[in-house]
Amino acid sequence: MTITIVPVGKIEEDVIVEIAERLRKRFERIIVLDERPIPTAAFNPNRKQYNSSLVIRSLKDIPGDIVLGVTSLDLYAEGLNFVLGQAEVGGKYCIISTARLGHPDRKICYDRAEKEAIHEIGHVIGLRHCPNDRCVMHFSNSIFDTDIKGAWFCERCLDLLHNRR
Ligand SMILES: [Zn+2]
Ligand SMILES: [Zn+2]
Repeated sequence: MTITIVPVGKIEEDVIVEIAERLRKRFERIIVLDERPIPTAAFNPNRKQYNSSLVIRSLKDIPGDIVLGVTSLDLYAEGLNFVLGQAEVGGKYCIISTARLGHPDRKICYDRAEKEAIHEIGHVIGLRHCPNDRCVMHFSNSIFDTDIKGAWFCERCLDLLHNRR
């Protein structure tokens, strides 16, 4: 399984390097592409945010088993004030935003980005939200939820994944 990481719009290089390094420890093959612009049509001038579905749609020419977009621009979905990320459940494409993951301690930013990336990858490979607040598939209502949860799947989620194969 190949995970292709695509920087989108604007993102610090150290974040991409760190996410790639961490994902390499957990998944078979990681490829990092050059940055591509965020689609201007995704920008909502009233909200000053980008529509995450439209950003995901703009990634669809990229081949690979799983394509993970990473941006520092703030994302939203209809009906939500913001999203930390979005994925096509059982599809191929997902995106995370680091806009709300900031912390003076860079390591905490990296931890948060890793968790959100693995969370969205979990959706792509077919997992839904998990009630276990330590599981990476737990839904983050706020950054506090992200800090509480771990960076990997709980036993139940791993079982669900294995039963799919
Ligand atoms: Zn989710
Ligand atoms: Zn779980």
